[in-house]
Amino acid sequence: MDKVISFYKKFRCLAGLCPASCCFGWNIPVDEETWRYYKRVPGLLGLRLKFEQLGRFEPVFALGSGACRYHQKDGLCELQKKLGEEALPLVCRRYPRMHRNYGPFTETWLDLSCIHAAELFLSEEERVGFQTWDQHPVEERFGNNDDEEFLKLLQQSREELIDVLEEAALSGKREEADLALRFMLRFGYDAQNACVRQDYGFFERGERDWRESASGGSGLMEACLPFPAELLQLLFDGGFYNDALKRQSPYLYRLCGLYLRELAPLSEKAREKKYGELLKGYFSEHPGALSRMLRYYEYCLCQYYFNVYQDYSFTLWMIRGLIDLNLILLFCVLRWKELGKERLDLRETAHIISVCERRARHNHGIFERLSRITQEFVFNR
Ligand code: SF4
Repeated sequence: MDKVISFYKKFRCLAGLCPASCCFGWNIPVDEETWRYYKRVPGLLGLRLKFEQLGRFEPVFALGSGACRYHQKDGLCELQKKLGEEALPLVCRRYPRMHRNYGPFTETWLDLSCIHAAELFLSEEERVGFQTWDQHPVEERFGNNDDEEFLKLLQQSREELIDVLEEAALSGKREEADLALRFMLRFGYDAQNACVRQDYGFFERGERDWRESASGGSGLMEACLPFPAELLQLLFDGGFYNDALKRQSPYLYRLCGLYLRELAPLSEKAREKKYGELLKGYFSEHPGALSRMLRYYEYCLCQYYFNVYQDYSFTLWMIRGLIDLNLILLFCVLRWKELGKERLDLRETAHIISVCERRARHNHGIFERLSRITQEFVFNR
């Protein structure tokens, strides 16, 4: 069976009109076949491509830089214009469409590091989920696990987790939202231990009391929405922010500047207090924001929960969504404060999602560091 995320068909690339082109702010991996093809391109463009390949151990464009060299002033791609779409690296031809083939079924979604995909996601009134699809994306099978019974249990447990988040989203209460996110952490921890014990009954959908699990004496962290001020600071210091951002992602650099001015200089207690007050104002000014944040986490589960089918790292994947969600929320709040009484519009919220995802999610070095810091914070205290 093939499944696709509900708003997929609405997507059209904004191309030259995109305010946050995906040709900036990260490395662009080039597949082997296209990399070989570039060696055969004639003329001046061919020479430039060969020059680009000199001394590269990895096939990648825009290595460590701010922009792809083939991005032109009109916002369009020089390679696409001169050589046609098929000359683009596979990742550029597909982006932001993502496909996964799990064997018995495939799933396709849009990556929210694309600003327009993030806008479409934010525009959805209802919960976002997969629908059956009449197309069959050709994709290599994900990983090498062939335990289809376990995959079925994972499907059930993902539904259970999304139902918990949705219940909290519909309540509109911050305490419920925090509890539901703490349950995600608790579930990840218990699921990982259940796998070690080979207790797969854990994943069956029963009458689990999620509130009790999240709030009992066994809670792992006192707050997940928002993260404690100490953890936010550790994430900043641990690699999310550095001076190279000024060149790689000027908008994110500016957002980080807001944090460094408004919150970082305060004592931990004062930072906690001030952020708490700002958050209260932000949520009361943006009535739909709380459910959006929870649905963002639901979307993370749609994208990455099944990674555990390969690596069994439940805690890692549960934590990953929490990091992204908390950074996005922090920047939404700070930007709203900067604007005065104005509301943050949908496009700017989408822009914040897209730059945070590019930085914290698609940058392996940073992602690993932020995950390690958060895991240590959660489990070693
Ligand atoms: S970020 Fe999205 S909308 Fe913008 S150029 Fe890239 S694919 Fe197109």
